[in-house]
Amino acid sequence: MSGDEFTGGCQCGSVRYRIRADHLTAYACHCRECQKQSASAFGISVPVMLSSLTIDGETASWRRPTDSGSHTICHFCAQCGSRVYHASENRPGMVTIKGGSLDCAVDLEPVAHIWTRSKQHWVVLPDGVPQWETQPQSQSEWMELLS
Ligand SMILES: [Zn+2]
Ligand SMILES: [Zn+2]
Repeated sequence: MSGDEFTGGCQCGSVRYRIRADHLTAYACHCRECQKQSASAFGISVPVMLSSLTIDGETASWRRPTDSGSHTICHFCAQCGSRVYHASENRPGMVTIKGGSLDCAVDLEPVAHIWTRSKQHWVVLPDGVPQWETQPQSQSEWMELLS
């Protein structure tokens, strides 16, 4: 997906955001945490630089411990509770937009699927798209996944 600016927001519209980027890359995460946070089958994560993101409206946040001993800071609309983006203490300067909140979400096509070990059985993954039983372990593996 390419363009100069991408927009999105929460379900009720009190939180709106803009991302300045040449293109967006999405991956789908089938871990139990993403199933819980989305209350659905999987999460769609769109990593962007924090500096490229402008947010209007009031968000609230919640900190979740991760397996690696760090924390994910989960930001959501203070009014309607829609999850908007996540930040990780491990990766300052980066955030992941929750893909379904983008206005152009229909155009997102995940470049990879992670945590397929816990994916719902009816979800059929497309041929040829990289899959990880768990998740990339190193920065270089993440870069490979997102390239
Ligand atoms: Zn809202
Ligand atoms: Zn996940």
